Amino acid sequence: IFAAVEMAPRDPILGLNEAYNADTRSNKVNLGVGVYYNDNGKIPLLAAVKAAEEARLKNAPPRGYQPIEGLGAYNTAVQNLLFGAGNALAEAGRLVTAEALGGTGALKIGADFLKRLSPEATVYISDPSWENHRALFESAGFKVENYPYYDATTRGVNFAGMKAALLSYAPGSVIVLHACCHNPTGADLSDAQWAEVVEACRERGLVPFLDMAYQGFAEGIEADAVAVRAFAASGLQFFISSSFSKSFSLYGERVGALTIITSGKEESGRVLSQLKRVIRTNYSNPPIHGGAIVAAVLSDAGLRAQWEDELAGMRDRIRAMRTGLVEKLKARNVAQDFSFVVGQRGMFSYTGLTAAQVEKLKDEYGIYAVSTGRICLAALNNQNIDYVADAIAKVV
Ligand code: PMP
Repeated sequence: IFAAVEMAPRDPILGLNEAYNADTRSNKVNLGVGVYYNDNGKIPLLAAVKAAEEARLKNAPPRGYQPIEGLGAYNTAVQNLLFGAGNALAEAGRLVTAEALGGTGALKIGADFLKRLSPEATVYISDPSWENHRALFESAGFKVENYPYYDATTRGVNFAGMKAALLSYAPGSVIVLHACCHNPTGADLSDAQWAEVVEACRERGLVPFLDMAYQGFAEGIEADAVAVRAFAASGLQFFISSSFSKSFSLYGERVGALTIITSGKEESGRVLSQLKRVIRTNYSNPPIHGGAIVAAVLSDAGLRAQWEDELAGMRDRIRAMRTGLVEKLKARNVAQDFSFVVGQRGMFSYTGLTAAQVEKLKDEYGIYAVSTGRICLAALNNQNIDYVADAIAKVV
């Protein structure tokens, strides 16, 4: 049965990690990752998470199955973060939320559900996008195309191109949008541009699918929800995948959610019943620990305040690394202007480093980045930033 199985291509980012792990240089730096590290180069265990975990373990709760759609308190907490507490959508019964296995799991159950609803639809993702978007929707059976997004000359968004493309797509097409902190470019839409995207989706009858993997990593929990809120106010039906991997530093616990915004209560009942069938036939019901921890933190005023502080700490540290890197490159008399890095949002930067320069960074300095020039600012810290600035100054 396996004789004809071909070797699958290596995941480019995981391949990078393998090469980094095998590198014996003690001053090596991995800027290729998609994970937040603290200033000691460690993945933090947030104090709010630790406190909620200790309380949970002390109670020694039984490990029964969860409902197919996960913990109710968790799903409500997700909705409150996305739309604000006491939001009109929840009151109108327009929200269906199911706990999912990370943002990836949310995208997958959303894609599988969509495939049942509109099997012929084309899915459009940004050019470029998180590398798993294409694979995910293709594996759900969709044809996947790119819409124009990044403009390398302005290092911003080619908004005119993006909007014209949206207005040209067939009604019912699925548009995957990064709600904030665009991965891999760090280039986000302005509030005014989001309003235009909402109108374009309405005008063409498109199906928006917002991917919110980094809420709180750009400006703050509320400010980063601007796109979600603009769609919420529009009356349209849409999808949101969201994740606590980054904002709670709970990567391996796989804590995310799929939220579907319907036109009303009765529709929500039907949608949830079908979504549950998708989940039931994939993994039956989600794991219990991560969602319980997030729900506990978000429903306790003290823990929530502590979490918001810790989230702000992560956000501020990334920003400090952005400004630090730009200043250090300037101080090393690098002719190329890197000041745009400060204005990019989230963990990543499209630095404009060429594939050859990235290769040189790896070979000569043990500094690993994605060949597209994407680096993770959250992998920089006060111990390695000078070394990285020295190396970049030498290769450019
Ligand atoms: N969407 C985007 C844009 C991402 O960057 C990521 C994580 N790298 C995900 C989804 C997946 O998140 P999770 O790890 O929670 O599955």
